[in-house]
Amino acid sequence: MSETVSPSSLVIAVDGPAAAGKGTLARRLADALGLACLDSGALYRAVGLAVLHAGGDPADEAAAAAAARTLDTGRLSDPALRTPEAGDAASKVAAFPSVREALLEFQRRFAREPPAGCRGAVLDGRDIGTVVCPDAPVKIFVTASPDERARRRFAELQAAGAKAIYAAVLSELAERDDRDSNRAVAPLKPADDAAILDTSTLDADTAFRAALEIVAQRAPGWRRLVQDVR
Ligand code: C5P
Repeated sequence: MSETVSPSSLVIAVDGPAAAGKGTLARRLADALGLACLDSGALYRAVGLAVLHAGGDPADEAAAAAAARTLDTGRLSDPALRTPEAGDAASKVAAFPSVREALLEFQRRFAREPPAGCRGAVLDGRDIGTVVCPDAPVKIFVTASPDERARRRFAELQAAGAKAIYAAVLSELAERDDRDSNRAVAPLKPADDAAILDTSTLDADTAFRAALEIVAQRAPGWRRLVQDVR
């Protein structure tokens, strides 16, 4: 399905595996370019957490779909969504077509009609470039080696004061990658027309500059603004 975006607006799809740095990158691009930002993973995390809080099993499709249909999208910045448990529950509920369907229109509307004052939107997730916004002019698939991603997630958890074991973080990420990449519906994969950005050896600033370069190449109308923020 194609989306309707006014010519002056811009949609940037940022996809990739867990802890590849796509959230930070999406936020920086949005702030620099005056775009709204939607972390679509938070939607799946909120659904997973809602099922857990109701005493249900995230692997139960009926419970997950009911939670997705009644999701309160006003609470997506709840810190409880950032825990490993929420991430694990998210990737279980995300495998169900009924859950994905229930969350699809919210994401498309966000891209089509970003909050007032924004000239477009950056959405990050797993299937933004392939399913949610297949017509986005800029698609960036952000990736990094499993070890590097685990190292970053481990550091993040430590900085947040959480007890974490590196080997457990690595295996949790591998399990989640496997589930996200091999599910039947909207699996994690780069869109055919996505630019691949491997951040394994890049710091956040370098990755950001590389992403701006991709925006400048793929959205010529935005070149001047990109030059100003570089
Ligand atoms: O990006 P984040 O790690 O917060 O995503 C949590 C989980 O939500 C992912 O592991 C994935 O299973 C699911 N997800 C998805 N599609 C998206 C965003 C997230 O399936 N667009």
